[in-house]
Amino acid sequence: SMASPALLMRVVASAYSVAEKAATIVRNVLAAGDLGIVEKTGANDLQTKADRLVQMSICASLARKFPKVTIIGEEELPTDEVTEELIEDGHCEEILKKTCPAQYTEIKEEELVIWVDPLDGTKEYTEGLLDHVTVLIGIAYGGKAIAGVINQPYYNYEAGADAVVGRTIWGVLGIGAFGFQLTEAPAGKHIIVTTRSHSSTLVNDCISALNPDTVIRVGGAGNKIIQLIEGKASAYVFASPGCKKWDTCAPEAILHAVGGKITDIHGNSFQYNKEVKHMNSAGVLATLRNYDYYASRIPNTVKQSLMP
Ligand code: AMP
Ligand code: MG
Ligand code: MG
Repeated sequence: SMASPALLMRVVASAYSVAEKAATIVRNVLAAGDLGIVEKTGANDLQTKADRLVQMSICASLARKFPKVTIIGEEELPTDEVTEELIEDGHCEEILKKTCPAQYTEIKEEELVIWVDPLDGTKEYTEGLLDHVTVLIGIAYGGKAIAGVINQPYYNYEAGADAVVGRTIWGVLGIGAFGFQLTEAPAGKHIIVTTRSHSSTLVNDCISALNPDTVIRVGGAGNKIIQLIEGKASAYVFASPGCKKWDTCAPEAILHAVGGKITDIHGNSFQYNKEVKHMNSAGVLATLRNYDYYASRIPNTVKQSLMP
């Protein structure tokens, strides 16, 4: 008989289904027409009913199955009873069939930290830029992002009536990443993807120093990593604090699973142990290929302005 699948694979398989349930909630809240917008630190830092319901759904669903795992979500919510209709108990069979990499087969629940961004790109969600939105579930072990799920609830939403709307991308270090077509950006072109709603002089000065052929300004950390792995952009550059650990954990795992690299603007890797500071104070630099080209051209003046 088959040995029971390793904990890591069971967590990823469940996170896949939990992220699909989350996507349904994101679409239903918008379709119902009442976003229930709350300003957190200001007008560019919002929370909607979808952020709240999805976080409750993801955290309660995963906690029920994996009670000893540490789960850290973006939103501060009252610790109400979660209604049963928000619970997802399914899993993706295809993921359970994959072989867990040897270095992860002995992982215990207490050793995992799950970073949850229930809705990444909230500002864009409220403005109708729907394909910028993602749901992010990142899984960390030993301080490293080792697996992740990115659901894009409105993928293909403008592709016509026959198109299937929404998709789920997942990945594990040592296995790879699935649910999309890995594509490299055009060779010899510097296509930079960055924030659209959190720009600053520093953000723009840093991009200028990289001699971009094109600058793409879109919302969401998850969305920007998708731009890298699908060859739409060659580097994600954000020389500013603002991005948090739940923004980068799932994207990092998927990008690293396909040979890319993400660091802060100094080249330091991110840490994801449960005690870590949430803010990525020294910004973000990520590429699928040619990381060194971009890293070597970040101006010292920019680095000096962004202490880790
Ligand atoms: P963006 O590229 O602007 O969509 O940012 C990526 C992620 O980082 C999103 O979850 C944003 O909400 C978050 N973020 C970036 N900058 C800020 C900021 N100045 N204030 C609050 N959140 C931010
Ligand atoms: Mg976010
Ligand atoms: Mg969010």
